[in-house]
Amino acid sequence: MRILLIEDESKIADFVERGLSDEGYAVTVADDGLKGEAEALTGEFDLILLDVLLPGKNGFEILTEIRKRTIATPVIMLTALGETEDKVRGLEGGAIDYVSKPFSFEELLARIRAQLRRPDAVSADRIEVGDLLLDLKTRRVTKGERDVDLTSREFELLAYLMRHPDQVLSRTQLLNGVWGYDYDPGTNVLEVYVGYLRKKLGNEGEEGPIDTVRGAGYRLRADD
Ligand code: CA
Repeated sequence: MRILLIEDESKIADFVERGLSDEGYAVTVADDGLKGEAEALTGEFDLILLDVLLPGKNGFEILTEIRKRTIATPVIMLTALGETEDKVRGLEGGAIDYVSKPFSFEELLARIRAQLRRPDAVSADRIEVGDLLLDLKTRRVTKGERDVDLTSREFELLAYLMRHPDQVLSRTQLLNGVWGYDYDPGTNVLEVYVGYLRKKLGNEGEEGPIDTVRGAGYRLRADD
């Protein structure tokens, strides 16, 4: 497992690198934003740990660039304590998780393991969950043997759900993640699109793999 650590504080970088190497991970450290971005864009890492304040280019700019190139490597942002706004921005920008500084190594390791434990995420270009296969490059979706024809918004929503299999995702998370900043919080657009996806993914007489979790949000079942 290859991990890219983009962090300019050498104390933190050393501590994380040492700990992860002991755990058997191959760690590459970049101590400024530009070097880090260049490494990230190779798409050759299983996970990226990304600091926010960096010389050269900040963590959010790097994150935006990574996602623009549709590199699906999971990202964990390393934010300073109390930077709530940063956390929110990070998640909206497509980061999967964040850890607040100061963090313990165990805490970080737990988050990393949680991200890498997803056995269905086969590669950076393809996401596989149960019998669903989504190709980020060709934008083709198949369910079992069957091709599923999706509009681009349906595709984005399904990709978001597939990146978090078996996790309950809140309305806010999904609206932020798929519709971005401009959505109207009173909108029912999410419900409408979940309905479209269910129709397209469900076999006859079945609901398909997207569960409604009452009062909490939606969940894509991985075992379907
Ligand atoms: Ca920093």
